[in-house]
Amino acid sequence: MKILMVSAEVVPFAKTGGLADAVSALAIVLNKLGHDVRIVMPRYYKIDRSKLTPLEGPMGVPAGYVEAWTEVYTTIMPGTKNLPVYFIDHEQCFGRDGIYGTPTDTDFQDNPYRFSVLCHGAFQLCRKLDWYPDIVHAHDWSAALAPVLLKFVERYNGFDKTASVFTIHNLGYQGVYGKHNYPATGLDWNFFYAAGFEDWDRINFLKAGLTSANMLTTVSPTYAREIQTPMAGFRMDALLRHRSGDLVGILNGVDTEIWNPSKDKYLAENYSVGKLAGKAKDKAALQERMGLEVNPDIPLFGVVTRLADQKGVAEMFAPTYGSMYRICTEMKVQVVVLGAGEKWCEDELRTLESKLPNFKAYIGYDESLSHQIEAGCDFFLMPSRYEPCGLNQMYSLLYGTLPIVHRTGGLADTVENYNEATGDGTGFMFDELTPQSVFDTVGWAVYAWYNKPEHIKAMQKRAMKKDFSWESSAEKYLEVYKAALSRI
Ligand code: ADP
Repeated sequence: MKILMVSAEVVPFAKTGGLADAVSALAIVLNKLGHDVRIVMPRYYKIDRSKLTPLEGPMGVPAGYVEAWTEVYTTIMPGTKNLPVYFIDHEQCFGRDGIYGTPTDTDFQDNPYRFSVLCHGAFQLCRKLDWYPDIVHAHDWSAALAPVLLKFVERYNGFDKTASVFTIHNLGYQGVYGKHNYPATGLDWNFFYAAGFEDWDRINFLKAGLTSANMLTTVSPTYAREIQTPMAGFRMDALLRHRSGDLVGILNGVDTEIWNPSKDKYLAENYSVGKLAGKAKDKAALQERMGLEVNPDIPLFGVVTRLADQKGVAEMFAPTYGSMYRICTEMKVQVVVLGAGEKWCEDELRTLESKLPNFKAYIGYDESLSHQIEAGCDFFLMPSRYEPCGLNQMYSLLYGTLPIVHRTGGLADTVENYNEATGDGTGFMFDELTPQSVFDTVGWAVYAWYNKPEHIKAMQKRAMKKDFSWESSAEKYLEVYKAALSRI
């Protein structure tokens, strides 16, 4: 199949979250299976032009009222022989820091126009290459205009055999802007309602994508069900119920070249199911690096997260009612946190660290520490309010670090709850997110650590044997692509 991925972020070129990992990993596996996959994304300021190859001639992109003149650059995706990535280069739109915004200006006000240039550009690029894909696969709201353009415009301009698939990586981000931005789409006002942009008299890019794509996917089966309910549907639940016959949940995989304790280059010592001894050295190294007491007998809990409400950070860290202070004072544990994000939360982490000798926080983004926490901890705390798929709990399982999670979305699909009677399970779960349930479930894990060490060992081994490869997910996407083609 010929597949064009459209995404605002793609590893290793630009990333804010799991979306960027998923797009490139899926593309790479499909490429290995022999499909003609190509990726199109913006060339942000930080992506060095001198390392890319320019395509000949400028490319006109009919976003907004007038044509935008862009350049296109290309390179081959690292780790592949023939997976091209195309970069749309437009100084006015993408020649700045940040993908959607900057720390001080979190949402660029011209995002409707910027991502309209990306999506229109995707089709212009195909014309320029004289390459017409079977599937346009758009990811998240910033690429949602692509299925809309296909259905209402491009279908009649040479893309009559192309079908679209739209993947929701996180329904919480929808791209909602004032209606005055609508002309940025380059579409006639007829389509304001017809294509599903209208959202309480504003424009909603995600909603238009959900209305227009031939098939919809999201990144775990449980999340696919949850988003059809008012609780987790972010106001899109009715539309998603309406389209439930076209909506499929496919779990993301893990890049086991990077996330593999037996060859992880960031670890003090590599280890595997058969050779677990190395994990103890990684624990000691982490305790040492973070300035904690080096002691194998104290259970060590890790957190690696964006400090955002979605991740349950209030239930853990909020002043007065968050559970962390009680966890660290009432239980014999150690906790390390790696995260960046909301300022109140960063401040609170510093406050907790100043009060608690067994609590350490690193505020910022640190690749090596994220690996060392996965390897060195005994437990990984991930109480997300909602979690479309989640990567960190899967990394934790593969590293034998038992996850403590809220039973939601991808967390529910990947972690099996501990059964105290039999010792079965791969982690610890609670059903309702409250500070008390976080406290209680950490307490449950601590109880098992001190009283049922044989269960903990068996759970670690069971977790490390889990298969989260992209291959099986890619097969499921191919089924979705076929279903999309049958719906043209
Ligand atoms: P989301 O995409 O919602 O942020 P995921 O669990 O799907 O959550 O993916 C998060 C990714 O970002 C993981 O690869 C995780 O290790 C990484 N990550 C998050 N915060 C940090 C940080 N402060 N330092 C290093 N890596 C981080």
